[in-house]
Amino acid sequence: MPEKIDILGVQVDPVTMQQAVRQVETYMDERSGVMVATANAEMIMRATHDGELLHILNDCALVVPDGAGTVWAAHHLGHEMPERVAGYDLAQELMRRAPEKKRRIFFFGSAPGVAELAKKKAETLYPGIEIVGTRNGFFAEKDEPEIVKEIQAAKPDLLLVALGVPKQEKWLYKYRRELGVPVSIGVGGTLDVMAGVMKRAPRWMQKAKLEWLFRGMLQPKRAGRLMALPKFVLKVHRAKR
Ligand code: UDP
Repeated sequence: MPEKIDILGVQVDPVTMQQAVRQVETYMDERSGVMVATANAEMIMRATHDGELLHILNDCALVVPDGAGTVWAAHHLGHEMPERVAGYDLAQELMRRAPEKKRRIFFFGSAPGVAELAKKKAETLYPGIEIVGTRNGFFAEKDEPEIVKEIQAAKPDLLLVALGVPKQEKWLYKYRRELGVPVSIGVGGTLDVMAGVMKRAPRWMQKAKLEWLFRGMLQPKRAGRLMALPKFVLKVHRAKR
């Protein structure tokens, strides 16, 4: 594994999709009990003023470069960063390999019904896949012990958590020991996209590194969050100097 790269304090792994998948497979084989994060510019920006998130990210076994902004920042700071590893794509690659390796997967997060729809989609896309449990992501704190029990009882090898940033990272970190799951990943909008309630940017926009713009346009509520991007660019620029 190549050495981690520092982007505004967040240690990011300069891995290709293939390396990331192989690494996660190894963690599952070894039943490591690790967290994997997918760091885009917005997450890294947030970590610059959210010490708890920063600490969690730097405690993750693997932090993949999700988003054109992260790849750009690494290059701008003079590091190698082979490609973007989007959380959605990483999740799909792991699911594609799951039936053959008999991996058990749990979907936790998103609005009621979404994880179930995502499960149906996964079963169509990846015949034989074992989605061993689903749970929506809208709960009160008092429900958390029961959610933990539900996940423990399902004994997943891989836990995909879609509560948004930084809730998913903080939740996973808080319960990581109790959960005892070999690999947990915060996957943001992945279940929404699988369920068809949200769209990913078309390929050409992804290639043109414009996925962030597409998401901002599609979810006007997020438009304010787009400001994180120019701020990120400025901050990385200053960090270089
Ligand atoms: N979500 C959730 N519980 C919450 C808040 C959000 O399950 O309390 C879900 C929401 O329904 C969506 C996902 O978390 O499916 C957040 O997706 P988004 O694309 O906003 O992720 P981010 O960009 O923040 O990683």
